[in-house]
Amino acid sequence: MNPEFIKTICPYCGTGCGLIVKVENGKVVGIYPDREHPVSRGTLCIKGWFAHEFVHHPDRLKTPLVRIGNRFEAISWDEAIPLAAEKLKATAETYGGDAVGGLCSAKCTNEENYLFQKLIRMAFRTNNVDHCARLCHAPTAAGMAQTTGSGAMTNSISDLAGAECSLIIGSNAAESHPIIMGEIYKAVDRGATVIVIDPRKTAVAQNAAMHLPINPGTDIPLLAGMMRHIVDAGLHDEAFIRERVEGFEELKNFLQSWTVERAAGECGIGGDMIRNVAEIYAKAREAAIVYCMGITQHACGTANVHAVCDLAMLCGKIGREFSGVYPLRGQNNVQGSCDMGGLPNVYPGYQGVTDPAAQEKFQQAWERDLSAKPGLTLTEMIGGAGKEIRSLYIMAENPAMSDPDVNHVLESLTKLDFLIVQDIFLTETAKFAHLVLPAACFAEKTGTYTNTERRFQLLRQAVEPPGEAKGDFEILCLLANGLGLDFPYIHPGEVMEEIASLVPDYGGVRFDRLERAGLQWPCPDTYHSGTRYLHEHKFTRGKGLFVTPQYTPPFEKPDEAYPYYLNTGRMFAHYHTGTMTRRSPFLNRELEKPYAEIHPEDAEKAGIREGDRIRIISRRGSIVTAARISERVAKGSIFTPFHFTEARANILTNPVLDPISKIPEFKVCAVKVEKGPYENQGR
Ligand code: SF4
Repeated sequence: MNPEFIKTICPYCGTGCGLIVKVENGKVVGIYPDREHPVSRGTLCIKGWFAHEFVHHPDRLKTPLVRIGNRFEAISWDEAIPLAAEKLKATAETYGGDAVGGLCSAKCTNEENYLFQKLIRMAFRTNNVDHCARLCHAPTAAGMAQTTGSGAMTNSISDLAGAECSLIIGSNAAESHPIIMGEIYKAVDRGATVIVIDPRKTAVAQNAAMHLPINPGTDIPLLAGMMRHIVDAGLHDEAFIRERVEGFEELKNFLQSWTVERAAGECGIGGDMIRNVAEIYAKAREAAIVYCMGITQHACGTANVHAVCDLAMLCGKIGREFSGVYPLRGQNNVQGSCDMGGLPNVYPGYQGVTDPAAQEKFQQAWERDLSAKPGLTLTEMIGGAGKEIRSLYIMAENPAMSDPDVNHVLESLTKLDFLIVQDIFLTETAKFAHLVLPAACFAEKTGTYTNTERRFQLLRQAVEPPGEAKGDFEILCLLANGLGLDFPYIHPGEVMEEIASLVPDYGGVRFDRLERAGLQWPCPDTYHSGTRYLHEHKFTRGKGLFVTPQYTPPFEKPDEAYPYYLNTGRMFAHYHTGTMTRRSPFLNRELEKPYAEIHPEDAEKAGIREGDRIRIISRRGSIVTAARISERVAKGSIFTPFHFTEARANILTNPVLDPISKIPEFKVCAVKVEKGPYENQGR
């Protein structure tokens, strides 16, 4: 049989690169880059090239599993769906609908996320629905919505190639978003300046014109110092501020207390460096601010986002092409799962559950009485397991790896009356489930993802799911019908039409319009060709708003007992909790084992040599890993990636929350290090 070639989208990061999947005899046998794709244009990173390697892995779940004591037993779908429905209904009847919670997924399609939140909201009259955006870009959604009215990337990825200056803060884009970094390097080839602000000398920092190695968690002092210098030097855009932004007097008052020298002292760098960077950014004709979890994963994550937006508005570098603010989304569809209402405070399209008009609209459309009370966040649901939350339905999320203070998460999962996990592998979280539902992966289903630049894109089914596994779309319809709801959908395109009818910004999105290059929202009607950049003539909220960023230093600073800062992050060959990439032989050849970077001087003091087994200990637990001696980390800091189940970095991280967005402070905690010998904990 001749091979088939099917265009689809990469399942890993929010860049949303175009893949061509090669199928032979019903199996995915290879991946090629899609030259016609509007973002990746014939390029892929290593993860995309090898995205087929996990698809037919023998570990794939092939049948529903029910827990019998300490083991799982295979059951049929005819048993699994009634069991799931009965247990969830029993929880709601006994404790009320708010005792049920659901985690939808940044890995699933828009249509699946829409159906998931609709099921939870309709069946249980609760807004307890959330997902892992809480752990990465919840501060972006909250902070940018306050300052600009829209929590999304302002511009398109291709705009970065035209920026004269890119300020990259807390993002190791060369490893986490390499195709986006490629756009920035195109600008460098034309003479643009890249400035990196990061405590660690990342791959991006090594190739930048300037690297500001600030102390962990001091982004607000740095940005405040820059803004103070810009205002003092008269480099701000007065006309833009006068016409388009409010709150300038309040911002100036705030900046009074942030002299450049004070900022420099807090950040641990020279004042001249701050002045220099401020001037390069302010004087550039077009300048971009690119950020990722180094900005958001702090107890002041939302305030960090306020500061980023304030700087862009201060200099008028927003609302025009080649400038703007670029939060780099992590998971392939984290933008879409937020857009689809997979959050406890909003319906699809960020329409507030407490807004009577929005509530009325969704009640009428869904013909159900809905709750106006915002639901619990992901961290609150896990923390409330066995108390407020008695049953949890998790679709393709892995909190046993991805949440902070993992030992506490594991304990919480055991307290649930009933846990349903729907996934493609028996993940660390699925091992705690009472019922496991086997789902389809990206190559086995049809739907849409929305990438980090707001682009709806078509995912096309290439092969069938293994064994009895089903697409999440089909499972959700079966379960909804089992719960007495009417989900009559046959094809995801019907769901997209329903979404378009309820969300004005997606009003013109239809499957047949996505065939060629997708559509960037806002796309209000079927004649609209999508929006390349936001806030052109006015901000989504009308006028932009300077919000004074309240600085909270890291909750845990090194002390005598725990003398190092710990920083966690990604590396190029693996993705997030490693569920898919660690089942790729090629990617495992690139890096198979966990490690932690330690500065040579610290290593020498502790008698640690390259490759030694070390134990990293925080106030919450410890992991054993291998030492990698490197000047990429500053003295007094340790870095470890979070992809490895045998050395789960999140055992160590601090669950303290940002009060606005409720994101945990993943990026900073205090640890100590002991030298082995230690045995590995095993997978
Ligand atoms: Fe996939 Fe992201 Fe790599 Fe593109 S950059 S190939 S979307 S992992």
